[in-house]
Amino acid sequence: MSASSSAPAGKAITIKSRDEIQVMAEANRIVAEVLVMLEKVVEPGITTFELDQMAEELCQKRKALPAFKGYRGFPGSLCVSINEEVVHGIPSRKRRLKKGDIISVDFGTLYQGYYGDSAVTIPVGRINSEKEKLLKVTEESLSKAIEQVRIGNRVSDVSSAVQEHVEKNGLSIVRQFVGHGIGTLLHEGPEIPNFVQEGPSPRLLEGMVLAIEPMVNIGTHQVKVLRDNWTVITSDKKSSAHFEHSVAVTKDGPLVLSSRADFDGRGK
Ligand code: MG
Ligand code: MG
Repeated sequence: MSASSSAPAGKAITIKSRDEIQVMAEANRIVAEVLVMLEKVVEPGITTFELDQMAEELCQKRKALPAFKGYRGFPGSLCVSINEEVVHGIPSRKRRLKKGDIISVDFGTLYQGYYGDSAVTIPVGRINSEKEKLLKVTEESLSKAIEQVRIGNRVSDVSSAVQEHVEKNGLSIVRQFVGHGIGTLLHEGPEIPNFVQEGPSPRLLEGMVLAIEPMVNIGTHQVKVLRDNWTVITSDKKSSAHFEHSVAVTKDGPLVLSSRADFDGRGK
């Protein structure tokens, strides 16, 4: 789940011990397993409610709580955002996936007091080349951002890596929602915008854990929130993609806690 960039600033940045990062790795491993399961079951005809139920079941089987359920009143366990929906879409029994859709699934866990948070955008059957490019560039921008998660770099180095790659490819970056620190709270400091902001930017320190989450649009960067008070859509109704990983800053460089490598064999 992404943080609103208009939320009051100044949430605390916390430093985690090795033991805490170990627990956060467990929390995020469950998220990764859920996302890989969803990648496998997404197909034309399935409802977003069914996906939500499957995510919640697997999460509970792993003795974790679905972190988004009830978070500020969010009604589902899974955020499901189709095509022009950017983030925070609500699962529905009435919403069936169609061939050619793209669906962003964002899942969070609470496990032994710590949060996990990760997202992936999945093609439903064959998708057009415009959407294919959107998914590829957004996922690549996340990888480039993760490479910048190094002690001594600044948050702006992470932001800049996303912005450069996305804009070079003629796509646009959502500004109203941003990534965030994560730990015993779902949304901690610092904010991780996907574009470079004016002013000072915090240094990355060993033990910080960051949820980095580019939200990328084919058309305008502008978005609006629907009357359900959750679903964010693009103002021009063109498609949007969302990928997210929770990443720890370590002496050895970035440690991707929500890596799906153990589950899908793709090495991510
Ligand atoms: Mg998320
Ligand atoms: Mg998030």
